[in-house]
Amino acid sequence: MKITPVILEKLIQAANDVIELHAEEVAELDRNIGDGDHVINIQRGLKVLVEQKQELSELDWASAWSKLGMSCMSKIGGASGSLLGTLFLGVAKDLKDKEVDTLVFANAFSTGVDAMKARGKSDAGEKTMLDVLVPVANALQQQAESAPLTELLTTLKAVAIAGMESTEGMLATKGRASFLGERSLGHIDAGARSSQLIICAICDVLLQEN
Ligand code: ADP
Ligand code: MG
Repeated sequence: MKITPVILEKLIQAANDVIELHAEEVAELDRNIGDGDHVINIQRGLKVLVEQKQELSELDWASAWSKLGMSCMSKIGGASGSLLGTLFLGVAKDLKDKEVDTLVFANAFSTGVDAMKARGKSDAGEKTMLDVLVPVANALQQQAESAPLTELLTTLKAVAIAGMESTEGMLATKGRASFLGERSLGHIDAGARSSQLIICAICDVLLQEN
């Protein structure tokens, strides 16, 4: 698939809309085992991205992801701001001077997720957004070349949902929730839920466009 930055505008709007729709639910999840500000942090970042979306969509892919990353770093507070910023900047670095297709993007997304792991000294299984991002990155890389786009996007949605749900039974070992020890069990991680919502919204836009 040839990806053009113009679609970025639609993807940002869809991400913003899905978080608005589920804002109270995500806030509640972070209140349960965090400090309750996760959705506000994400909303703040998305508001800036919505303001920048036209400008972003006129850039090449590497520059657009780089600007996305810088905006996340500077505008989103909390742990999630620097982590998401690191992910996007990692994607940007990998995409530099490349012609973007599904496989090239899949590899760049994995590079970004690896950068986030390094930044947060974390991995899947610790009850964070990585429990969504790592399996999604793996599925994307494994199926980017072989699966038809519709099938790939449908798989990614299912993988994101399964990853999000898997956090409920996990003990948090990173982030604020880790301070709660066993009391973190039985709650879905807020960052896993917001990541899953955004990934599913993005896949839905791409499914409609396809
Ligand atoms: P804060 O924890 O500083 O209040 P947020 O509320 O915005 O920041 O984000 C919390 C989310 O960040 C958690 O739900 C979790 O998904 C994610 N998170 C926390 N620490 C890490 C980490 N080391 N690696 C990856 N994600 C993390
Ligand atoms: Mg928080």
